Amino acid sequence: MAFKYNSGQLIYFRESHGRKFFRRTQDYLSGVTVARQSINESLIDFVREIDGNIVEIGGSQNLEEYMKSGKYVLLDLINTESNDVTANAEKLPFASNSMSGFVCISVLEHTPNPQKVINEIWRCLRPGGKAFISVPWMFEAHMEPYDFFRFSPFLMKKWLSDFDLVDIQLVNGYLGLLAHYLQKKPLTRFTIGLWSFWLDQLAPNKAAWTTQINIWVSKEKDLLNEASDDDSGDWIQHLRCPSCVILKGGELFEKGSCKICKDCGSRYPVINHKKIVFATGDLNNHDQ
Ligand SMILES: [Zn+2]
Repeated sequence: MAFKYNSGQLIYFRESHGRKFFRRTQDYLSGVTVARQSINESLIDFVREIDGNIVEIGGSQNLEEYMKSGKYVLLDLINTESNDVTANAEKLPFASNSMSGFVCISVLEHTPNPQKVINEIWRCLRPGGKAFISVPWMFEAHMEPYDFFRFSPFLMKKWLSDFDLVDIQLVNGYLGLLAHYLQKKPLTRFTIGLWSFWLDQLAPNKAAWTTQINIWVSKEKDLLNEASDDDSGDWIQHLRCPSCVILKGGELFEKGSCKICKDCGSRYPVINHKKIVFATGDLNNHDQ
């Protein structure tokens, strides 16, 4: 018998050491992975410090209530109930230098070209903007067959070298890795798994054993140019046709229940006056 994982609760208040220890223990026993615990501890803090629109790639939980200003835009390749934009992250449908923040949690391993997604985050982030990117390293296959990659901290640093690295967090050491795998079965979770989990908190986290890597990066402020004046106003104004977006054109205008690209004439459905669907959920043919 295998126990299910559980994504746990986002932490939105400052925890004392005692409370954190108790909550982590509860999390571990209820099936929140070491990786997910670290994300839950960081995400709200990240969202709170961004001033302006944030895009979460592949997310489903709207965190707008924690933001200083702007919209929390949920983007996904699949047209789900909760998302605002349905698009392929390899060709983000936003103007260059237009967004204040990006969140991308455990998504890159499911994309066939993760480096393209990183390059798109770089392009769309405004100078001074920040991104929170979390990727698995020593983590078992999941969501098969849509599980394509694992990322070392060294590869991520290389791929993110255009950004300024704000922080990188390895979430566990050897015993934490052991605790992660021992969490799968109830017998080991409640015995040696829990002890491994506790003892791991006393040892340094290591690149060799970490289940997840959390990375905070920013785009240098000095890169500000005439194309990136501000991020104010409605996030909808920053939407661009994904086929033409790189060429700086592709502005969209509305016609009936569609948005139409001024440059290439592509039509994209608008659902409920709100949701814009650029993608069909097909990784190979996402522009129509
Ligand atoms: Zn176009």
